[in-house]
Amino acid sequence: MVSNSDTINNEDDLPESIQSRLCEICYFRIWERNNFTSKVEDYFLSKKTEVGDEKPGKHIKTNPCCLCFGLLTLPLLEQSILLIKQILNKDKYKQDLERKQCCLSFSIPPAIFIREAVLKVFIKDKYEGLLDFERKSAFITIKESWRTCLEQLANDLKFDDNNPLRITVTALYIDNNEECKQLSHIPGTYFPNANKKSAGPEYIYSRASVLNAIGSISEEDLKKNLPFPPSIPQHFATLTASGKHDSVFIAGRYNKYSRNLSQTPWTIDGVRKSDLSVDELLSGPIKSVFRAEHHNFSSSGREDVDVRMLGSGRPFIVELIDPGLSDILFEKMRSIECDINNSSLVKVRDLQIISKNEIKNLKEGEEEKKKTYKALCITKQVPAPEAIMKIQNSERLVLEQKTPIRVLHRRPLAIRKRAVENIKLTEVPKETQDFLMYELEVTTQAGTYVKEFVHGDFGRTNPNLSDLLGIEMDIVALDVLNIEIDWPPALNQ
Ligand SMILES: [Zn+2]
Repeated sequence: MVSNSDTINNEDDLPESIQSRLCEICYFRIWERNNFTSKVEDYFLSKKTEVGDEKPGKHIKTNPCCLCFGLLTLPLLEQSILLIKQILNKDKYKQDLERKQCCLSFSIPPAIFIREAVLKVFIKDKYEGLLDFERKSAFITIKESWRTCLEQLANDLKFDDNNPLRITVTALYIDNNEECKQLSHIPGTYFPNANKKSAGPEYIYSRASVLNAIGSISEEDLKKNLPFPPSIPQHFATLTASGKHDSVFIAGRYNKYSRNLSQTPWTIDGVRKSDLSVDELLSGPIKSVFRAEHHNFSSSGREDVDVRMLGSGRPFIVELIDPGLSDILFEKMRSIECDINNSSLVKVRDLQIISKNEIKNLKEGEEEKKKTYKALCITKQVPAPEAIMKIQNSERLVLEQKTPIRVLHRRPLAIRKRAVENIKLTEVPKETQDFLMYELEVTTQAGTYVKEFVHGDFGRTNPNLSDLLGIEMDIVALDVLNIEIDWPPALNQ
């Protein structure tokens, strides 16, 4: 406890009892708010010239600072810099030129907020009537102070909030949960997650819940229930660091030439049903160049396993999660295309990096877009030439399609209206005596089930080609010829 003999001779100074518990930087951030940066600068300069001089300076403490647990002292500041540099130099994030920039985050144990709140009350108490403490009450935050220190100590690094590589330094303090728990003994204090059985202390005493609790406790209660002034900690904080790069988005268009390739990995009850997928054939080479382990694949619609995607291809986007790079040379992107195009199953074009804002272009108007298909159809009966003529001359047919039986397991049962137009039916030279073959070309509104339009799906699609021709017709092969989306822009190569 602080005795009443703790005299204040100079209102510009903090009481000795508390000064001795603070590190220099914490002292500055409380008491030298207006010249903080220059004070820090002077301090580090003096530390440099002090090398070899073992005589302890005025403020040198051996115990951890009662506010920052040593986080703002040289050893832990230097360790922070080391951890940051280790991540910048990781193989994953390395660049041709050494990486010197990142976005910086600092995660601190919430017990620090409690100690700061108590110290504010303490100082206010001491200076009652002497000094308008409110004027100086807002400390420079520990995060801001930490960053200022790092900027001065590591002037070869640049910390930029817009840099896509975010490095988070996390400070842990072993007695954090115990100290936070002290708050919960103060009547009227409420931690919303305290009664959840599965909630660990980190979850109960989160930064937000601790700050919330502090805000609801009166100065009197803080003073009465917590060590006043804040006690000398038994331990220094420890540090870890991690890096995460913003997602990078790659767009392009793909063709698919196989009738035995699903668009995304095909699994049933967790068991792979095929070795390959369009998604993996495209994203694999992109991920390896950008050094990403995970990705999300999305496309403008999708085709069935047995449907080929021809023409100018289908637009798609690969989101690279935590890649090592944010950009590559134009030529390098072309070499990724070559890599992908070595496969006989898929081809890709117009690969390019897009901004997050452009993602919407992929899905925009997806339902209104038109798609052109070519289908190979078979029948045992000869259709009447007049019936074919009538269909080909009809401008636009509106179908009512009940969800096809084959997709009922993954799509809700509904009736959808879809338009088809430009129907062209051409007889294909006969290969067998058993049936006739026709090539159907048709332009449809996105989302039309073309197979069902041909055979009618037991009357679930109306009208359908079989009914219109008055014969039974089935479909044996389907290709997408064109998807009417002018995105991503074609590249001049
Ligand atoms: Zn400190």
